[in-house]
Amino acid sequence: MEKIPYKIYLEENEIPRQWYNVRADMKNKPAPLLNPATLQPMTASELENVFCKELVKQELDDTTAYFDIPDEIYDFYKMYRPAPLVRAYFLEKALGTPAKIYYKFEGNNTSGSHKLNSAIAQAYYAKAQGLKGVTTETGAGQWGTALSMACSFFGLDCKVFMVKCSYEQKPFRREVMRTYGASVTPSPSTETNVGRQILQEFPDTNGSLGCAISEAVEKAVSSEGYRYVLGSVLSQVVLHQSIIGLETKKALDKYNVKADIIIGCAGGGSNLGGLIAPFMGEKLRGEADYRIIAVEPASCPSLTRGKFAYDFCDTGKVCPLAKMYTLGSGFMPSANHAGGLRYHGMSSVLSQLYDDGLMEAVSVEQTEVFDAAQKFARIEGILPAPESSHAICAAVKEALKCKESGEEKTIVFGLTGTGYFDMYAYQKFNDGIMSDYIPTDDELKASLDKLPKV
Ligand SMILES: *Cc1c(COP(=O)(O)O)cnc(C)c1O
Repeated sequence: MEKIPYKIYLEENEIPRQWYNVRADMKNKPAPLLNPATLQPMTASELENVFCKELVKQELDDTTAYFDIPDEIYDFYKMYRPAPLVRAYFLEKALGTPAKIYYKFEGNNTSGSHKLNSAIAQAYYAKAQGLKGVTTETGAGQWGTALSMACSFFGLDCKVFMVKCSYEQKPFRREVMRTYGASVTPSPSTETNVGRQILQEFPDTNGSLGCAISEAVEKAVSSEGYRYVLGSVLSQVVLHQSIIGLETKKALDKYNVKADIIIGCAGGGSNLGGLIAPFMGEKLRGEADYRIIAVEPASCPSLTRGKFAYDFCDTGKVCPLAKMYTLGSGFMPSANHAGGLRYHGMSSVLSQLYDDGLMEAVSVEQTEVFDAAQKFARIEGILPAPESSHAICAAVKEALKCKESGEEKTIVFGLTGTGYFDMYAYQKFNDGIMSDYIPTDDELKASLDKLPKV
């Protein structure tokens, strides 16, 4: 058989022309979003006050399997796609495993992550609707960066609420966003009612994603010609991210490689949902089987220790409710948690698939994650994002199991981005002062007890 190259590159004209909507093949559809005031399913017109029209259509569509990618988005994709699928020969050798390891690398663009795949789509639909601009939140900063790139491409105004501790720890992230023309405000801020309320109640807060979301939504609905956009969790984002999985599948098919295990880190679920989409589709249609593993931080374990229930998507409770695996919208990961993936909930699509037993979830502690990250950087050359390193950590564990058993499994994982702006966290690890924190059952219970009664 032909030797598999280090990097499987697709040709430009092999970039998929359509996104795949895995919901179309799900027997149990994800539960609808609920209006926070009435607890009734959100209608399209209600959602259109917050989100762009075309994106609302995509959000509510559980039956259309394929969506055409508009030419303007496709052309932008050509700037940084196709993304390479790398055969991790060096890593396999270093581990001494018979497993065959592949990773899909999404860090080859300035935002440094897969988030640009959805940012460009959301900016395009906002522009097509004739809007002036969009608002959003960003935690670690990758989404805000991706969105500022996308907005500058289409000439849209971009207003980013950045979680305060991240704003202070990552001043250069902020500067990248400003270079692309975005305005960046640390959250909680005094620019919104919800921000002022949160500051009054918790004057020393470092901010959280849930709080920044509330601020960005309030800003959007109170500004003429603005809508809110979100970089993860929503079903439309999972749809856009299916480009990752579709390319991966095409590249594997080119060399007749069949994956056995597919692994991705899970924050809100967008990269994992995108990576697994076409494989999960085959699984749902009974055409093939795969082990699919979501990897989350032990300090923010929504799938492995959360509850499958309706919850608010934000701290301020202004967003619709989603049925998802959640730790409670008031949950904040411990301050020593450095590795991203800090959202309290999980995409409704992934939550439903997980609840139906179609995928597994594991949690890993941050010191083992950074240990895997450091090894990976030294062996494969790429300096991974801490988020991505959760997937590396789990992939290495699976490869070592193959070493024990002698099985030659094929493992595919998502390397979602690079870690150049996470050097503060790497520094802690390199100095040997990074610690782990796992929330106690009582802490989780206190947060879960506050779930809304739906
Ligand atoms: C945002 C981000 C993630 C996590 O978000 P998901 O929506 O769960 O994919 C993972 N890796 C990187 C590099 C990110 O920027």
